Amino acid sequence: MRGNSNAPKLRTRVTRVKNPKSATPEVPRYAVQDEIRLDPGRTALVVIDMQNDLVKQGGSLLVPDAKATVPAIRRLLDRARSSRMRVVYIQDTHRQGDPEWQIWPEHCREGTWGWEIVAELAPRADETVLSKVRHDAFYGTPLDHLLRGWRIDTLVICGTVANIGVYYTAASAALRWYAIVVPRDAISALEPFDLETLLRQTALVLGGRLTTADGVRVG
Ligand code: ZN
Repeated sequence: MRGNSNAPKLRTRVTRVKNPKSATPEVPRYAVQDEIRLDPGRTALVVIDMQNDLVKQGGSLLVPDAKATVPAIRRLLDRARSSRMRVVYIQDTHRQGDPEWQIWPEHCREGTWGWEIVAELAPRADETVLSKVRHDAFYGTPLDHLLRGWRIDTLVICGTVANIGVYYTAASAALRWYAIVVPRDAISALEPFDLETLLRQTALVLGGRLTTADGVRVG
């Protein structure tokens, strides 16, 4: 797109307005289950974009609460690994001139420190890592092909950003009729409002189930 003068300009001038009544909107109810029991042979744990740029101090697109979700994601990984559940890492990956950098600050440039998955959650050699170029981890990746080959019908989706990579991936999975589970303490967003948006949409629109990291049980 770069160098093409006919390309649409993504950056627009906006006037930020406060909520006119300066009221916090009420979050509609959604159910969070204490426990969800899953068949590890039919389930994959999908870890979205837990990369230095989004999680670590000094990252170029820091999500304030992402670091706090690392222990919960770690516990999900431990449980998945000990039950031989498939684990798929999604790694946001951009290159020079990516139009997404007109919307967000430059982030997750392939090969840089910011692009790397945080050390605490480092993938094992036998785990799948897929580079994604847009918010949806199915877009332009072999994710669907791999999941179908493994006979997976349920995805536990965690990581960041809740209403971006996590939500678009969950939505894309639900449209393909995968069952969705989102542990709410294993996701993070730029604003609490955004996190609630994902949870409400997942429960209401995707038919997804919400729980906590410790609520995800196997066997
Ligand atoms: Zn990105």
